[in-house]
Amino acid sequence: MLIGITGTPGTGKTSVTKLMENDPSYQVIHLNELIREENLYSEVDHERDCVVADMDLVYNRVLELQDKLYPVTIVDSHLSHHIADIVIVLRTSPEKLKERLEKRKYSVEKVRENLEAEALDIILAEAVDWCEKVFELNTTGGTVDGTFKDIGKIIKALKRGETEEIEQAYRPGSVDWSDYLFD
Ligand code: ADP
Ligand code: MN
Repeated sequence: MLIGITGTPGTGKTSVTKLMENDPSYQVIHLNELIREENLYSEVDHERDCVVADMDLVYNRVLELQDKLYPVTIVDSHLSHHIADIVIVLRTSPEKLKERLEKRKYSVEKVRENLEAEALDIILAEAVDWCEKVFELNTTGGTVDGTFKDIGKIIKALKRGETEEIEQAYRPGSVDWSDYLFD
């Protein structure tokens, strides 16, 4: 089973998937690292200081790396909803996200772009459009460990094939940042 952990930068994808690495039932692929290490991009965007991934190359490489010995392969990236059919979208209130992103070396413009994307539910909307199953998980108040446990609950239900309850508990649209929309 291939599961994407997606969300705006700073919502906690890498922190929580680092914890998942210690669990033998998960194979974890940190996609942004892989894209840079293996040059799986078509362009370098110097203005935004990032690369433009070649999603065909990326998808094929993930399928190659997927190790069927693990029941679950986790893909950590804000791009993972482009390639996985089941995704968990991490969400963080723009207020909290601002704090987290300002700690990084992001430019003022890049912080603003990401806060806007989060406030407007951009990644969630893409995931709902493209993926078969989408779960939305709020990481604003809790801890990384709490997020890890919530993801564990979702995966356990997926494995059992009994998803009705978690689809309700983590349904897309369960968080709402419309109060944070700014000028
Ligand atoms: P991403 O990979 O999505 O860009 P990171 O994991 O690199 O995000 O950074 C998220 C930051 O938020 C980390 O410093 C992490 O410790 C913090 N954080 C606080 N609460 C949570 C939570 N509930 N879940 C995940 N991360 C959290
Ligand atoms: Mn990350």
